[in-house]
Amino acid sequence: MGSPRSSGSSPGSLEVRGLSVGYGPVRALRDVALDVPAGAVVTVLGGNGAGKSTLLRAISRTLGYHGGSVAAGSVSYDGRDLRGTDAARAVASGLVHVPEGRQVFARMTVADNLRAGALGARGGRAATKRARARVHALFPVLADRAHQRAGLLSGGEQQMLALGRALMASPRLLLLDEPSLGLAPLMAARIAETVRQINAEGTSVLLVEQNAALALRLASVAYVLDVGEVALHGPAAELAASDEVRRRYLGVVDETAAEDAGRAEAAAPALSRWTA
Ligand code: ATP
Repeated sequence: MGSPRSSGSSPGSLEVRGLSVGYGPVRALRDVALDVPAGAVVTVLGGNGAGKSTLLRAISRTLGYHGGSVAAGSVSYDGRDLRGTDAARAVASGLVHVPEGRQVFARMTVADNLRAGALGARGGRAATKRARARVHALFPVLADRAHQRAGLLSGGEQQMLALGRALMASPRLLLLDEPSLGLAPLMAARIAETVRQINAEGTSVLLVEQNAALALRLASVAYVLDVGEVALHGPAAELAASDEVRRRYLGVVDETAAEDAGRAEAAAPALSRWTA
């Protein structure tokens, strides 16, 4: 993992303040504050419907495509307020979002999917060539299957393609929505290792994950969203050790509570057997 520098105007840094978002009458985020220091991996955990995808959409300026809008607050990237910036300009400035469910262009070839990722990216042809070489080095299967239709790839390979397509835009900050969703453990570990590598090469990462154990291993800082609000945040290692996070997101049983329940059960009078 790259060493987090201070946020503010460093490349790839993000600052969210007082962010409230709605879909018509549905309030999805309320007064959310979050920082991604340049070079860091930050994760956002939370149950279904907590607002994780909404947060990424608000940052990447894609909320409007989903019928949502920002009611209050600000998002600053590299120290610049993104108000008035559209999704294409956000990508051109290196802010790239890989949405949940991969969403590769199934009928297009792998090579064309990668080409699409470079559309509107900064740096011109030379940057695109460098980016493609980097993607092929990270995911050799995407070079081997360049001329196959993307829809024929396995789920894990499609996730690689979704990541590869995002890398074609030479991101400084990558927003990843559930990259391990639906993948077998080995493939999820492989994707996690790639995220670590992408980060080590200088890209900041904001990671939404249902696999909390994996996310807390990758990230230096974690936030927990609960019904649209930040319920907890802090160093990932501290959150990983907190009872609440262990119980709710890591599937760890609270041993004292389990013992108490066991004792109560043992002390309860046995039900008499019903006989006819
Ligand atoms: P999940 O893990 O289930 O994907 P999430 O934490 O990403 O959940 P969001 O998808 O951001 O949560 O949803 C937050 C809230 O906003 C939920 O109440 C959801 O029903 C609502 N919501 C999300 N997308 C839309 C939409 N396009 N139109 C209306 N409501 C939406």
